[in-house]
Amino acid sequence: MKNTLTTYNPYNGEKLDDYELFSKQKTQSVLNASHSTFLDWKLTSIKKRTNLLIKLGDVLNENIEKYSKLITLEMGKPISQSRAEIEKCILLCDFYEKNADRFLSDQIIETEAHESFVSYDPLGVILAVMPWNYPFWQVFRFAVPTLTAGNTGLLKHASNVTGCALAIQEIFEQAGYPIGCFQTLVTDHDTIENLIQDSKIKAVSLTGSEKAGVSIASTASKVLKKSVLELGGNNACIVLDDADLDKYLDTMVNARFQNSGQSCIAAKRFIVTEGIYDEFLEKFKSKVESYTFDDPLKESTKIGTQAREDLAEDLKQQIEASIKKGAKVILGNKKEKAYFSPTILTDITEDMEVFKEETFGPVAPIIKAKDLDDAIEKASNSKFGLGTMLFTKDIETARKKIIHIEDGAFFINELVKSDPRLPFGGTKASGYGRELSNEGIHEFVNIKTVYINK
Ligand code: NAP
Repeated sequence: MKNTLTTYNPYNGEKLDDYELFSKQKTQSVLNASHSTFLDWKLTSIKKRTNLLIKLGDVLNENIEKYSKLITLEMGKPISQSRAEIEKCILLCDFYEKNADRFLSDQIIETEAHESFVSYDPLGVILAVMPWNYPFWQVFRFAVPTLTAGNTGLLKHASNVTGCALAIQEIFEQAGYPIGCFQTLVTDHDTIENLIQDSKIKAVSLTGSEKAGVSIASTASKVLKKSVLELGGNNACIVLDDADLDKYLDTMVNARFQNSGQSCIAAKRFIVTEGIYDEFLEKFKSKVESYTFDDPLKESTKIGTQAREDLAEDLKQQIEASIKKGAKVILGNKKEKAYFSPTILTDITEDMEVFKEETFGPVAPIIKAKDLDDAIEKASNSKFGLGTMLFTKDIETARKKIIHIEDGAFFINELVKSDPRLPFGGTKASGYGRELSNEGIHEFVNIKTVYINK
């Protein structure tokens, strides 16, 4: 078994750093510290915990350039988007600072009892297994509500963003969180499997692929532990004849190409009705052509490399397999090391890899539909259920379709996005449970019924 892991800059292939994997003893002592900190932390007031969120946001703000650069170096995200990621983490801190007290306060329920209410108590040590695509945001959206609810957190981050993982622990410590409240483990999959079974770990949250979800959830279920799973997606972006392309074309292109296509909620299938198809394709292509590749550290860069070369290779194989089944390349389809050029495909059928599977990179398959009902039927033909986008001027008709969307989100004239104020999560193979908002902070609490008679 390897004892070290090495991180590389995907833009130029240069080595960034080596990290030693934690020994068994070190992992155990991190777990013990998390548990013993929890015993005090759970007794602290909500006021104290929300005050720390102000400091947490301040530390992020004071070091925004440093953390943005770290994200860009480790996973190739264009620097302006890395900065936006940190800014979003700051907004998240602010949101829970202002609202956590309300979300977590006892809910009085009138019964025959002298007093009866629901209290939201912390569970203990919660383990998070996180992906590289939003290396700060994914972790913060787990950690901020989870810690504010009185739990402690352990992070196993994706190996290629270990620098970010360690920086995040430091941020919590600099903000004044007690030592042990939030800790990073530099470790492998087997250790995670063992940790989930340790009685000190009370629940696990995974954001990652379907494969990782099956593995983590089955280990957790064997020991009857709760899991929250935020997995892959294959979101449809439906564009109807009456869509306002002048107003929303940028939004549609951004829905696919932000983060160089590496977002779970990206538009991964464009389903366009016949009357607007040609106009859409022409305008969409011309906009995508303006997304040029450059050094992700440059302010103007809109498309970086994929986060690792093997990910660019996976994408290439999905596209090649679809081309064999008849897909036509309208733009792009060029790979060089970790770079994959923005790609548009047409003549898509529903048996193609780019239709059925999640494509985690800058590729936009365009599918023609007869009308809204046909478009929704095609959109729903997916094992995933993160979200659907619909672009139209006819809001009343769109509203009638809400009940027919099986996904965790339905965005009309907007790209599917996460927002601290709104719950976020999926259905079907996209996982279960919710993050963010009131719902997210209640995932890792004991919803306790208290009943008092005199
Ligand atoms: P991944 O390969 O599943 O890895 C995610 C995390 O899980 C990493 O930390 C990885 O560690 C770890 N992991 C994988 N298998 C494991 C196992 N058997 N035991 C313990 N840990 C395991 O996914 P990724 O490539 O990093 O991320 C892309 C995926 O995440 C996409 O499918 C995307 O849609 C999904 N995602 C979903 C959401 C959402 O909110 N729904 C958000 C972002 C991303 P190593 O790095 O060490 O392998």
